[in-house]
Amino acid sequence: MYLLSVEDDLNLGKALLKLLRPHYRVHWVRTLATAKDHLATAEYDALLLDLGLPDGDGIDWLQAMRKKGSLLPVLILSARDALDDRVRGLDTGADDYLVKPFEPDELLARIRVLLRRKSGAAQAMLSAGDLSFSSEQQQFYLHGDAIHLPAKEFQLLAVLMQAGAKPVSRERLMQQLYGLGQGVDSNSLDVHMHMLRKVIGKDRITTVRGFGYRLTHE
Ligand code: CA
Repeated sequence: MYLLSVEDDLNLGKALLKLLRPHYRVHWVRTLATAKDHLATAEYDALLLDLGLPDGDGIDWLQAMRKKGSLLPVLILSARDALDDRVRGLDTGADDYLVKPFEPDELLARIRVLLRRKSGAAQAMLSAGDLSFSSEQQQFYLHGDAIHLPAKEFQLLAVLMQAGAKPVSRERLMQQLYGLGQGVDSNSLDVHMHMLRKVIGKDRITTVRGFGYRLTHE
């Protein structure tokens, strides 16, 4: 398990490292800019995020990450203890919020919960860019918000999502919609595809000419 700790306070940053190192691999950074760099180049299992940072507010960064579809588990560690701050942190997409100063054992316990939830969620969540699908809840999300689709469009999107970055042939999609060997006009696939693109955004599905379609993953 690899954690990224973003904390500008020197003493607290060091104390966190000392506390966490026996349990996890940890990387500690002191600014948002370095945090962004590290997140772009390494695969972390969770993020411990201070809010008041020298080059910005952790909340704004978290909001931008969630908008891009990041599902990285995030625990906010902040001295801001007002109810409003905690609610805002959780609403923005933090998985948990711990007010400083905190008890070391409580932090360790919260991290364990966060990582446990992550290993459960990873199996159940599929994503393509900022679009995600919970197979447990049979629900699609765009930027983290639930979206509602008619049955055929839902089936189309589910097949595309399960294919990952690979294209899916028109035949396969037709089979999914209508079953095998039924003489259905393939124009109806175009109609449902058009409807689906209208809901999730045209650019999220790429047409592979002469073959079929695939989800856009960036
Ligand atoms: Ca700070």
